[in-house]
Amino acid sequence: MKILVINTGSSSIKYQLFDMATEKVLATGIAENIGSDAGSLTHTTMAQDGTPQKKRISANHMDHSKGLTRITALLTDKDHGVIKNTSDIGAVGHRVVHGGETFQAPGIIDKSVLDEIENNIPLAPLHNPANLTGIRVARSIFPHAPQVAVFDTAFHQTLPKHAYMYALPYELYEKTRIRRYGFHGTSHAYVAQEAADFLEKPLERLHLITLHLGNGASAAAVQNGRCVDTSMGLTPLEGLVMGTRTGDIDPAIPFFLSRHLNMSIDDMDDLLNKQSGLKGLCGENDMRSVLDKAAKGDDPARLALDVYTYRIKKYIGAYTAVLSRLDALVFTGGIGENAPKIRERCCSDLSCLGIEIDPDKNMADTQALRQISPMNAGVAILVVPTNEELKIARETQKMVEG
Ligand code: ADP
Repeated sequence: MKILVINTGSSSIKYQLFDMATEKVLATGIAENIGSDAGSLTHTTMAQDGTPQKKRISANHMDHSKGLTRITALLTDKDHGVIKNTSDIGAVGHRVVHGGETFQAPGIIDKSVLDEIENNIPLAPLHNPANLTGIRVARSIFPHAPQVAVFDTAFHQTLPKHAYMYALPYELYEKTRIRRYGFHGTSHAYVAQEAADFLEKPLERLHLITLHLGNGASAAAVQNGRCVDTSMGLTPLEGLVMGTRTGDIDPAIPFFLSRHLNMSIDDMDDLLNKQSGLKGLCGENDMRSVLDKAAKGDDPARLALDVYTYRIKKYIGAYTAVLSRLDALVFTGGIGENAPKIRERCCSDLSCLGIEIDPDKNMADTQALRQISPMNAGVAILVVPTNEELKIARETQKMVEG
């Protein structure tokens, strides 16, 4: 079966077409700047020898429907296409950001699933409407193919109530569903399963901490295969320090900013989400630049690294207590997979928890799933490349095949 995975944003459509027999990617790409006069489409296929063949075309003033139509034309192109026609696509899997309290698992899209995604718009006002647009457009272009919604929040729906409730008046939760939801669930679920496969133990018997460290960052505590805590909350702002987000702060800081600096809600939203984190501390949100600057002795960059890794260490300690026993610590995401210095600092002086890194293994120049702790260490420390698209494709296939 061939499965198309789609991630629709307000001005973009990212896609990957999988051949599920081999789990190979046949084509991948992105339509960007949808709706503007600087629109473009980048489409990549693999040559016989595996080398990527990239094609970039400008596509001005397209809407989502035109964008997906053009993607489909590239996929089915007579000379360079990877499928003959649209009916070769057996199913479409959609990344949907917020499934609220409704979805613990993916859903085959029908009217009730669409209604629920719509009902959750107040919880993800930027993302869910774009995801709905992607679903509607894909349904009209691939009317024969079942469509599946895979939710970023679903993996975290197993959190116990004491972990997801904020200590706010209970009526507020009843009225508005303000609670912790967590995000990056598809990635946490994927790397947890990959870690279990690597360790050759059933996930249902493992206690893991998974650290997704990308531009956004979150931690999850996974007990016997079920997520029992995660660092992001009602929104992705809570928890770890990120590229431009604060992570945890004293909730009274916005009152202070409003009273003393007269900041508006929108200004504070921008400050906390887009001007803070690594960028706020040292002017750089890209970890490579932060590491470069710190290596050259730049004090703000050094401070940013200190704050970033200290916060992660606190979560490792907290989640070890939550889990009562830790079998493996898993690093993933652009930073988790590629920045040995960060992994080293997150794990330093944690031998009291059985966490010890092997410096040579940590520095090894490879993209493969690997163990970076000594073989006899109490806690296996793993680097696991994430693959959210493949996870969505697998979930889609599972749903469609029953
Ligand atoms: P997103 O959350 O947008 O998917 P990624 O998971 O790709 O982002 O992570 C992006 C982050 O990974 C950036 O901060 C980038 O600097 C960092 N990163 C990527 N490669 C490296 C590397 N070799 N060393 C350090 N950081 C890296």
